[in-house]
Amino acid sequence: MAASAEHLSDAAARIDPTLLTRLREREPLLWVNPHAESMAAGVDALDAGFDMASAASRFKRFRGLMRALFPALEPLEGRVESELLPLPRFSALLGGQGAWFLKGDHALPVAGSVKARGGFHEVLAHAERLATAHALLQPGQDPIVLQQPAARAFFSRHTISVGSTGNLGLGIGLIAAGLGFQAEVHMSADAKEWKKRRLRDRGIRVVEHAGDFADALEGGRQRAATDPSVHFVDDERSADLFLGYSVAAQELARQLDAIGRTPRRERPLFVHLPCGVGGSPGGITYGLKALFGDAVHTFFAEPVAAPCMLVQLSASGQGPLSVYDIGLDNRTDADGLAVAQASHLVAPMMKRRLGGVFTVRDDDLLRDVCRLQRTEGVLLEPSAIAAARGPLFLAQSEAGRAYLDAHGLRSDDPNATHVIWATGGSLVPAEEHARYQAKGAALLGSG
Ligand SMILES: *Cc1c(COP(=O)(O)O)cnc(C)c1O
Repeated sequence: MAASAEHLSDAAARIDPTLLTRLREREPLLWVNPHAESMAAGVDALDAGFDMASAASRFKRFRGLMRALFPALEPLEGRVESELLPLPRFSALLGGQGAWFLKGDHALPVAGSVKARGGFHEVLAHAERLATAHALLQPGQDPIVLQQPAARAFFSRHTISVGSTGNLGLGIGLIAAGLGFQAEVHMSADAKEWKKRRLRDRGIRVVEHAGDFADALEGGRQRAATDPSVHFVDDERSADLFLGYSVAAQELARQLDAIGRTPRRERPLFVHLPCGVGGSPGGITYGLKALFGDAVHTFFAEPVAAPCMLVQLSASGQGPLSVYDIGLDNRTDADGLAVAQASHLVAPMMKRRLGGVFTVRDDDLLRDVCRLQRTEGVLLEPSAIAAARGPLFLAQSEAGRAYLDAHGLRSDDPNATHVIWATGGSLVPAEEHARYQAKGAALLGSG
């Protein structure tokens, strides 16, 4: 996986030399996307006919079944949705301006991470297609019938497989097993031990691969290619995953309406999202841009060691470029973001839509995990807090101020809404949280 010197110089030539130096020095920075285009609201299905409405109606159709299979969804009447929480004390501590909110996907039921959105949608779409093709589900019929023994026996002869750093495996594995499928999760060697244990405890097969996330994905992909009873959920390419994430935009829109913060050009919405392979932040960005056009500005957060979307979007020329290609090592405590190569499906779609990407040091993730707990009493995993630095980059960095100027916006605008997308944490064991908190406290103590 280590790149040769010659390969490094070829690859390096695709990135602006000043930016390249800063990336290699692991300097936290904001990169503003020069390819972003002005976009009117209501522009959906521009790229390959993505149909968000179909994903939203699928979640709706399956509410009864979800509620029946997962008691955790009972209070939500089968909706896979999270709260929007104000962050007054956290933003004051960091010196933030405008109104800050946390989108609480760390507490999404069953999966405990943003993966519930994309992962559940893909598994439901697959189950629906299989069951319809085999006459276990009639068109228009409530999928609640899929909890009957005949359907479960049928599903048990099929496998749903996924490659994962951890949370996607949990999300997919738990819902697949819940529906009665065999579930198999291909994981990288650096995946957290507790995540493997949790999967195995639920009867989900864990296959470990040497190497990184991309190697685990490849392993899973190859096994599925030779066995027609296996459906592989491909985190680098799947449209069903992407669409599942995009539905979150409508949910956020309703929540902003309810608090009188419907985005308008002069009342901008900034959404800051942690980015791994790019599926979850990409799908959410796609949905938000379709709903709000230029009134929404989205920014991705990546670790300084794994800024794969920044590298891909900032590179000139054609073809994939990974963080290894520019001499970074993809090693980070933020395991959900330890991805060297951005999604082939998502990166091209972000080119016109994304405001920019900022990078974060692991130490700052741990500090922020601790600060959030102290101020707001919310426990996140390190990957999930990465987005918290976004509003500060916009207000305080040269690149951020230039972005605001270019859009006729001000950093101290009280009408601006900042949403920090919290992507995971509620399934993290207490002793694991205690370790993150202790590390963060030590870092805060030492300045
Ligand atoms: C998966 C994940 C992300 C990033 O999502 P991608 O679709 O990989 O970009 C961010 N945070 C957490 C906690 C995750 O599990």
